[in-house]
Amino acid sequence: MNDETRKDWDTYFMDIAYMVSTRSRCPRRHVGAVLVQGKKLLGTAYNGAPMGVPDCSEAGCMIAEEFVMVEHAGKQEMIKKQRCVRTIHAEQNLLLFTDRIDREGSSVYVTDEPCWTCANMLANSGVTEIVFHRSYPKDTDKVTEMMKQKGIAFRRLQSYEPPSETVMTVSN
Ligand SMILES: [Zn+2]
Ligand SMILES: [Zn+2]
Repeated sequence: MNDETRKDWDTYFMDIAYMVSTRSRCPRRHVGAVLVQGKKLLGTAYNGAPMGVPDCSEAGCMIAEEFVMVEHAGKQEMIKKQRCVRTIHAEQNLLLFTDRIDREGSSVYVTDEPCWTCANMLANSGVTEIVFHRSYPKDTDKVTEMMKQKGIAFRRLQSYEPPSETVMTVSN
């Protein structure tokens, strides 16, 4: 492989995050996250039920409903959304399975933009950069603002294309 066709580091680590996300047993959402220090991979995690507890594929998703405001045809609209609350989020699992010392000054690559709770935990975890691909508009504004206050680099890979075999179609 020559230098032009060789993958850049962002693509390389995001590809791994997507690969990891395929381990998730939740049929509604597949999220993968990896911890990177320098160019070294120090941890991987995906969303899932705690070890030894039935997961979504065995016990079904645990659905919570919530109302969210969305913009539709220029108008604000309230819609009902469902999400699965059985799983520990990938970012939280990543923090549970890595050491503080490894996280100091490191980067997290995560397939999806962190939710408000995960963003707060990551902000307090020692990581100094968070890179994501799919956006999660519900929390974008407050998460972006908080990252700015913390001085954590927070960026979306706009033109990235995940390997097609790692992307599963999910019902929402
Ligand atoms: Zn689920
Ligand atoms: Zn989360």
